[in-house]
Amino acid sequence: MTAEGLPPGRVREVRLYGDPILRTKARLVTEIDKGLLQSAADLVATMLAHDGLGLAANQIGLTSAIVAIDLSRAEPSNGPIVLFNPQVVRNRGTEEAEEGCLSLPGITEVVARHSQVSVQATDYRGKKIEVSAQGIIARALLHEIDHLNGILFIDHLSELRRQMLRSRLARIKESVRPASCVQMGDQ
Ligand code: ZN
Repeated sequence: MTAEGLPPGRVREVRLYGDPILRTKARLVTEIDKGLLQSAADLVATMLAHDGLGLAANQIGLTSAIVAIDLSRAEPSNGPIVLFNPQVVRNRGTEEAEEGCLSLPGITEVVARHSQVSVQATDYRGKKIEVSAQGIIARALLHEIDHLNGILFIDHLSELRRQMLRSRLARIKESVRPASCVQMGDQ
């Protein structure tokens, strides 16, 4: 399965905590060309292969502002979507729920986030769209948009919680190979 309007995607390596690209702010997309559509397709393929609810481009080593969200997790008749340059334009309420991240394997923590959001983005055709969501899809959108700003879900935890995760975080960091570095110019 791939998202509407995208070519078949390739599954890419998921970058782990400690890889500097996860702290790199994504670049806004100015023109959606064939290469970017392929990147978006790879993002969707990688998300689905890892059973992820969402995935951000820097998690597969890309520096463009693209996220994938699997809408079927909330409504089986829906499929995966990709959003270019997503930005939160409205939010409401707060909800606490358990969250994890493919870049932080084995770690789940309760994170407070807005319970409803509206996100403006550009779709694969270059058309401006607005997506409104609540529950797990709102949470996924906020989590993935955070990624594009170099923010990880553990950044929302208290200092005490982060201290308690320190050795587990260090273990993930140690598993990151030195060759896994930021590839500039990679779209
Ligand atoms: Zn994540």
